Amino acid sequence: MTTDSQPSVQIDTSRAHPARVYDWLLGGKDNYPVDEAVGERLPPEARDGARQNREFMHRAAAWLAAQGTDQFLDIGTGIPTEPNLHQVVQKVVPSAKVVYADNDPIVLRHAEALLISSPEGATDYIQADVREPEAIVRHARRVLDFDRPIALSLIALMHFITDEQDAHGIVRALVDTLPSGSHLILSHASSDLFPELSDQVVAEYAKGGIRLAFRPRPEVERFFDGLDPVAPGLVTATEWAPSSPAAEAEPSGIYAGVARVR
Ligand code: SAH
Repeated sequence: MTTDSQPSVQIDTSRAHPARVYDWLLGGKDNYPVDEAVGERLPPEARDGARQNREFMHRAAAWLAAQGTDQFLDIGTGIPTEPNLHQVVQKVVPSAKVVYADNDPIVLRHAEALLISSPEGATDYIQADVREPEAIVRHARRVLDFDRPIALSLIALMHFITDEQDAHGIVRALVDTLPSGSHLILSHASSDLFPELSDQVVAEYAKGGIRLAFRPRPEVERFFDGLDPVAPGLVTATEWAPSSPAAEAEPSGIYAGVARVR
């Protein structure tokens, strides 16, 4: 495990943090009253969205592992929640290597759970910000072979990065480091599927001091520019390789997709 920052983990419990609000939405216990306060004020659909998003991660990661992908770079990992991505993919490919990155100290505090790899595989955790893609890739190279296909997963991450922070440029910079045959897995909260609900969610997070950049479909599609979409293309989280017709029919405000690097 590599940390770019402090030796002791400082947790700020005076204001809400994205990873902890998400943990609350998923029914986790690694959150504080400030995070719960934000979560409680959100419409109930936000909890559905978190669960649908997490389930999309499970299906997309398992699918890629089944296609033979054995290297994963997961940025914006979140507080460990079983099954974690490495558990999903190592179930299919025990030798898979997974590098995790997140910028929240709470994730670092719980990172041991991410480091319990299968004996054949490997996992690593980097405390880092996606806005510094070069630093993440530099660390990831210690574990992953960038001459062989890698799945880059940015799951429910990029809606925390605004246009002023160059969200699309950051994804482009990361994708540009990946060899042909690699994949981008991305999910993103929409601003246009259920506009009133998204406005409400954005407003409540803002009250908690968290800035969100939910985007309309064309802006989410742009993250995949230059890549070959994997069927069914960009859909909602529940529509991506659904486990049952009932699961597919569940409305979702989260866009999700997988695309291949040429
Ligand atoms: N990918 C997980 C967690 C999503 S919650 C899942 O889909 O289940 C979003 C995560 O992104 C949080 O853990 C938050 O700490 C992290 N995050 C937000 N902004 C970030 C940034 N600038 N750099 C790295 N991680 C960030």
